[in-house]
Formats: sequence, C-alpha cells, structure tokens
Amino acid sequence: MVSAVALAPAPTPAARRCAPPRRLSILGATGSIGGSCAQVIAASPGKFSVVSVAGGRDAAALARRAIELDAEFAAIADPDGYSDLKAALFGSGIEVAAGPEAVREAALRECDLLVSAIVGAAGLEPTFAAVEAGRKVALANKETLVCAGAVVMETAARAGAVVLPMDSEHNALFQAIGGRDHDTITMMTITASGGPFREWSAERIAAATRVEALAHPNWVMGPKVTIDSASLMNKGLELIEAHFLFGLEVERLDVVVHPQSIVHGLVSFADGSLIAGMASPDMRTPIAHCLGWPERIASGVRPPDLAALGRLTFERADLARFPALGIAVDALRAGGGAPTALNAANEVAVAAFLDGRIGFGDIARTVEKTVSAMHAAGELARPASVAQALAIHHIAGARARERFA
Ligand code: MG
Repeated sequence: MVSAVALAPAPTPAARRCAPPRRLSILGATGSIGGSCAQVIAASPGKFSVVSVAGGRDAAALARRAIELDAEFAAIADPDGYSDLKAALFGSGIEVAAGPEAVREAALRECDLLVSAIVGAAGLEPTFAAVEAGRKVALANKETLVCAGAVVMETAARAGAVVLPMDSEHNALFQAIGGRDHDTITMMTITASGGPFREWSAERIAAATRVEALAHPNWVMGPKVTIDSASLMNKGLELIEAHFLFGLEVERLDVVVHPQSIVHGLVSFADGSLIAGMASPDMRTPIAHCLGWPERIASGVRPPDLAALGRLTFERADLARFPALGIAVDALRAGGGAPTALNAANEVAVAAFLDGRIGFGDIARTVEKTVSAMHAAGELARPASVAQALAIHHIAGARARERFA
C-alpha cells in the first residue's frame, strides 16, 4: 500500500535548538493558504527561511509576499506579469522570473519543504516535478491528487518523496492515524460544515446567487473552494484526495456534516475506537502542523474551547439536495480517468458560475453530463502519466465548456 508519509524520529531538544532555519518554498503564495503560511512563519521567528514564492498573475501581491517573507526567488505564472514584478522588486535583491517554467523552477529549487497551494490543476505539474525529485511536499492543492492521484503517489513512493496533507480534513486524519497500520482502519470520515446552503431546499440551492454561494459560515477561503464547499463538491474532491493519500478504498471513506467545523476528520479502528482530529476552523493549524512536522510549532491559533462551544452536532449529508457529492463518489467508484474528468469539468463549471454564465444548479449537472458522456465515449482510461491526466483534464474542460457555449 502506498502510504502518505514515513515516520521520522523526533529530534532531540539540543538538535532542535541548534537546527538551522527550515528552508521553505511556497507555490500559491498570494492566495489564502499563502497568507496563512506567512502568518505561521511570522509566529516562529528564526525557524524558517523562504527559498521561493510563486503566484498566478497578481504581480503586486506576489512582490509584497516575497518582501514580507524575504524570499530568494519570486516566480509569476503569467508571463505578462514579469515587468510589473521586476519593477516592484527592483533593488530588493530578490530574483524574478515568469511563466510556467519559472513556477517549475520555484518548485525545484533546493528546499526542506515545498508548500503546494496553487488552486486547480495548474498546481499539478510543478508539484509533480517536486515529487519526482523526491522532495517533501505539503499538499494544500487537492486537485493534484484528484487529477492524477495514482501517478503522483506511485511516483512519490518510488522517489522517496514525503507527501504531508495540508488540507484540514486530511491533516486531521493523518494526525488521528498516528502511524497506525492502515489495515486496522475500518472507516475514515471527513466532516463537511454543510456550507451556506445546509438548511436550504433543493430549489433554493439551484437558484442561489454568487454572493450567497460565496458566503461561507465558518471558513475564509478562495472563491473556487468556497463555491465547492457550498455545492459539497469540495467533500467529494476530498474523498478522492483521501483515497489516494491514504490508500483506502471508497467503502472505507465517509462524509458527515458537522456545522461547527471543530472535528475535521475521524478514524475508526477494528477494535471500535474512534479517534477524532479537532481544531478551530483556521488553516494556520494544519499549516503549522506541516511546516513543523514532525515537531509541533506555534500557529497563533488556540485549541477549541469545548465547554464554551457547548455542543457539537453531526448529521448525514443529503445527496438529494447536494448532488455534487454523489457524483464525485460515483467518479471515485468508477476510477480510471473519471476523477480527473470530474475535477476538470467542475473547474470549468465553477468558473462559469462565478462569471454569471450558469446557475448554481448547473454546476453539478454540467459535471455529471461531462463525465458520463466521456465514459460512454471510452475516454476515461486510467491516466498512467501526468501528461495523460492533463490530456483527460483538457478534454473534460472542453466538453464541459461546450455545454454552455
Ligand atoms: Mg478541506
């Protein structure tokens, strides 16, 4: 079985005091995860140094982050951002480059830990390059595993790369597993807050506006993942992510709705024990867990005060009102290229919804029709390489776009 991580011995207190700063690189440095990473780094002065930062197209934000983190190298994915980035970092001593090759270089510069937090399939190639090079990668970009999970994890095992889960649910699962034998796990459960539409009727959800869908009750996140959280597609993508990360089949993976977002993942074992991973709903906790691993470092977040919270509630997910979750589970069960196509169609549909071109209810419909049409056309063979995964990704994106062209 492919395992997410190999356990390393804990360093001695003396080794910890004398340790040089841990060298980090951050892909997706200008996004929500990048901002939280910067806060965690600031909470542990002298513990980290930053090798490279990479961002998508916001040159000004990337320049600010590069200066804030005193990075050695800043890479912007959009080639048109080069001159702005160069001007903003003039005289700073920070090296600047642009384009996909520059992002790849940012991923491959020698470091102790690469944070992969680029949203969407754009993060796959640079992250895979680091995995292939046997690096330690903290994965916040779930699309890397949804799009090409088998290839990525097999390559990680071969190259000796360590993949640490930074997504809050998977981080909680990882902590709850605590190195125990995966064969003794009877069920792994991730929680869903239920999002802003948890108590809405199916009709009202289908007609939800952009503003309503972006109003997440518990988490502050980027727009793509916020929309996915409102449709529960995010949980579907996370089940697929958990499948590849921990090597568990779909029958041992479950979702439960937990509106307080205090329990993030639960692992039950053969003896009937159920271990819950709990934390306040703040990404700085899973980020700090990954940045410090296998040590514990400060995150600036307090543990939940259970007496103050009073009660934690759990309920089943309603697949009738949130069809995206069922569609994602079907894709996981179908295997092959189905998760890849699901993810691509969803990216396109969410972008179209955010642009006001389709309704909220059309997101799941577009994804389902795209995946089933490709299945019928025999286009969903299991990708054996990143190139094959990306080929399926591009076909699925094009097919999804045709649906509302
Ligand atoms: Mg998550």
